[in-house]
Amino acid sequence: MVQILIAEDDPVSRRLLEITLRKWGYEVVVTCDGEEAWQRLQQEDAPRLAILDWMMPKMDGLEVCRKVRAQKAEPYTYLILLTAKGQKEDIVAGLESGADDYVTKPFHAHELRVRLRAGERILDLQAKLIEAREALRVQATHDFLTGLWNRAAIFDLLRQELARAEREKRMLAIAVMDLDHFKCINDTYGHLVGDTVLRETVQRIRPLLRIYDALGRYGGEEFLLVLPGCDALEAVRVAERIRVEICQTPIKAEGKEVAVTCSLGVAIFDPARPMDMDACIRTADRALYQAKSNGRNRVELAATTDGKRKFLSAHEVLAHAEQDLSYRTGR
Ligand code: GH3
Ligand code: MG
Ligand code: MG
Ligand code: MG
Repeated sequence: MVQILIAEDDPVSRRLLEITLRKWGYEVVVTCDGEEAWQRLQQEDAPRLAILDWMMPKMDGLEVCRKVRAQKAEPYTYLILLTAKGQKEDIVAGLESGADDYVTKPFHAHELRVRLRAGERILDLQAKLIEAREALRVQATHDFLTGLWNRAAIFDLLRQELARAEREKRMLAIAVMDLDHFKCINDTYGHLVGDTVLRETVQRIRPLLRIYDALGRYGGEEFLLVLPGCDALEAVRVAERIRVEICQTPIKAEGKEVAVTCSLGVAIFDPARPMDMDACIRTADRALYQAKSNGRNRVELAATTDGKRKFLSAHEVLAHAEQDLSYRTGR
């Protein structure tokens, strides 16, 4: 049921208006002055259609119109001024304050009814417009097949997170993940199965991430993970968990069981020696290339220190962490 707010200080007119609107099937929110109307219109679930008397104590109808228009433009509120003033200048002043329409008092029932319908049509159109725009926004930033952030969107996100990490002096990890011999999966089982494998891969990764991590489709069978606040050890743990999750059980698609493995390259952004986004991605890509050339189905970390080794495997990182821990705890 469509909600209408009415603001009218005169009890008799107010009652008449309320009864008339209810008879027409509207749900009516009754207020007795401009101040009360303005309070109600600011609420989250406020009516989108309002009939405001011009002359009211505390705050007049014009002022309510001005305040509503000064507020955020969405969702739109359609405002009808109810006025005893019928002069051209009054009408102009009313519309200038932000009212969409006006009705002179005493109101003519049929006229009010068609003006309300006109308002409803405008509100309807506006809602459709917002819906279409939101759908376009989703299309522009998301990958159709997997529903993930697309390449442009995940890059934007990474750029923002890098700036934040630098400002807040926090670590940030990125990982590039690529399915192994995916071309072979397509060639063996067909593209439809390939598509299902991509979607299922994403379903398996999602539960392993925290809410502030981001996952995007970076290329055909390549994904980019942005892990704010993660150091090398944490990032390698996440990457290793993903690797195991993918290879542990075959993916079922079109009645086939497809064995899938993936490789991951991890790079760490250290605020003590900042890198730009391109350098971060290049570093993770090199680590991925290393994982591929070391035999696939593995994780490689690009080392941040100036040691001889450029890359460390997940096993080396995890074993080292384990040693470190036993040393510290005397286990
Ligand atoms: P590597 O282990 O070295 O990564 O080998 P690969 O075969 O995975 O790599 P390559 O780059 O040779 O092949 C990637 C394949 O991914 C080729 C392309 O047809 C396929 N691909 C890319 N996007 C899609 C997609 O949306 N759906 C399907 N089914 N296949 C895709
Ligand atoms: Mg009045
Ligand atoms: Mg591949
Ligand atoms: Mg690839």
